[in-house]
Amino acid sequence: MPPKHRELATVDSIGDLRTTVAAWRGAGQKIALVPTMGALHDGHLALVRAAQADCERVVATIFVNPLQFNAQADLDSYPATWERDVALLSEIGTDLLYAPRPAEMYPEGFATKVSVSKLTECLCGVARPGHFEGVATVVAKLLLQAAPDAAYFGEKDYQQLLVVRRMARDLDIPTRIEAVATVREPDGLALSSRNFKLSAEQRRRAPHLCRIMREVAAELAAGAAARPSLDQGTRALRHAGFDRIDYLEMRDGTALGVLQRAEPGARLFAAAWLGDTRLIDNISVV
Ligand code: AMP
Repeated sequence: MPPKHRELATVDSIGDLRTTVAAWRGAGQKIALVPTMGALHDGHLALVRAAQADCERVVATIFVNPLQFNAQADLDSYPATWERDVALLSEIGTDLLYAPRPAEMYPEGFATKVSVSKLTECLCGVARPGHFEGVATVVAKLLLQAAPDAAYFGEKDYQQLLVVRRMARDLDIPTRIEAVATVREPDGLALSSRNFKLSAEQRRRAPHLCRIMREVAAELAAGAAARPSLDQGTRALRHAGFDRIDYLEMRDGTALGVLQRAEPGARLFAAAWLGDTRLIDNISVV
């Protein structure tokens, strides 16, 4: 049995990352990348496990990307649990942690952004202007820095997954983009670093998001027209104590086109606020 808390190799520069990865590649090993913003939970660990199942070496990254925060207060209050993160990654057998500083990712004079159109013109792309440019830019950089065979993303951030896939395809980045199913609490709440910010009272209300989404999805799957079901769902979310609902929408799971009725591949997407905390979730309808 390997020791539970072995030292986790950590690098913070692009040069050290490339040297380590090049040695593994030279030995014929497949390399996986798991990008995160830290404050790790079982959802992140599910990505690492999926990566370990496919590749010999797994690089996790922790970088709270300032470019993808459209509100300074959200960036300032983003949870940070560095020591716990390192312990979790070490325990699960991650091969390398890459944790660059902002100046390594965005040195003086940095002036390039990666912008994905169409897929970003709805849902969180509307509610969080600039967010997906920040995501596409940082993920493009991470993929070019690490040059992994595969990179793992959660379905929890489904629109992000599609945006990253599109970006990698459009820029001819030869990394497979793999999706991992959303990990949930026993009460249905999707795991999220932002859940750490919920008060006990808000935490009790949070699972209503997923409960109401499941009810609406069941109606839609049974053939109900989208508009009335979504309006009813939005009212139910308000009644359950969500302070603001950014969206509750049914869209196709490939191009994110709006659907009036459920069809194969349909997904339900929601974003709603409890106090200052914005929760998102998505589930398949049929
Ligand atoms: P974040 O640290 O929130 O940027 O997330 C890093 C990665 O973990 C992204 O690919 C997320 O989609 C994924 N992730 C976050 N929460 C979950 C979850 N509950 N289940 C599966 N993957 C998740």
